Amino acid sequence: FVMEAVRVRFAPSPTGYLHIGGARTALYDWLLARKTGGQFILRIEDTDRNRLVADAVQDIKESLRWLGLDWDEGPDAGGDAGPYFQSERLAIYQKYATQLVQAGKAYYCFCTPERLEEMRKKQEEAGQPSGYDRHCRELPAEEVERKLAAGDKYVIRFKVPLTGQTKVRDELRGEMVFDHQTLDDFVILKSDGFPTYHLASVVDDHLMGITHVIRGEEWIVSLPRHFLLYAAFGWNPPVFIHLPIFLAPDGKGKLSKRHGATGVREFREKGYLPEALVNFLLLLGWHPPTDQELFTLDQAVEAFSVDRLNTSPVNFSLDKLDWYNGIY
Ligand code: GLU
Ligand code: ZN
Repeated sequence: FVMEAVRVRFAPSPTGYLHIGGARTALYDWLLARKTGGQFILRIEDTDRNRLVADAVQDIKESLRWLGLDWDEGPDAGGDAGPYFQSERLAIYQKYATQLVQAGKAYYCFCTPERLEEMRKKQEEAGQPSGYDRHCRELPAEEVERKLAAGDKYVIRFKVPLTGQTKVRDELRGEMVFDHQTLDDFVILKSDGFPTYHLASVVDDHLMGITHVIRGEEWIVSLPRHFLLYAAFGWNPPVFIHLPIFLAPDGKGKLSKRHGATGVREFREKGYLPEALVNFLLLLGWHPPTDQELFTLDQAVEAFSVDRLNTSPVNFSLDKLDWYNGIY
């Protein structure tokens, strides 16, 4: 069966160098785009100003190019200049956040850090679940106007319905249902005027015409928030595909730095071949229809399909990588 042309994006936060989890996501995005004659977009999600790592963007671009994964769009695709940067799109997110406020689907919250801290403490002492207590949800309009006019600091929060559920869908896992009572009124616009990940990701995926979102399983918890935002804007959500996490080589717990190299840069520096790493990443979450074990990028484009992605966690071991590296 032939899939329609997709528009996919790889959306790393430049909070560190490209690690193998991100590289695997980018590879699958790229394969799907190339297979269907679609587009692969690189979007740098640099809205968390406290966690930026200076040369992370450079590393991400270099590592993607080294792997052979070229992106199609952005101010200067292919060349040396950049992909899309969310930090250059602030006015867009502010516009959409304000639009939700005007529609009564979001609200200004003027709570000070001190008040929120006190609230947290009280919740903890009382053994209550933590989360914003909706203090500002029903502020009278005049009070909001007055505070805004006085220049009081604020964030914008999304009004999660008090009851009911949101149904979400993941292409590999099917439907999942989340109770609204388990979600609090999450922030969509921060006090520095930057959007949160939730708002920026939904707005951009919509405006950029993304048809398929591929990302790590750790983002499933964000899905109900994203579906709520899509519904509030009246937009159709894209297809979501969440990839399984990597487990430590001994199968106990998640893979982390102490298990050895996890950054693409480290593999590059150790002299691994990009072909070997591509082959390794390809089979870390996808199983081929035949017993073929060695794939060039072109062969991977040919063979790749979404229905052969795995959902079970992947035991991470470098043995295979070393074996491929000896062959290429
Ligand atoms: N910026 C997020 C990350 O660093 C993107 C998650 C997503 O693809 O929606 O993983
Ligand atoms: Zn508040």
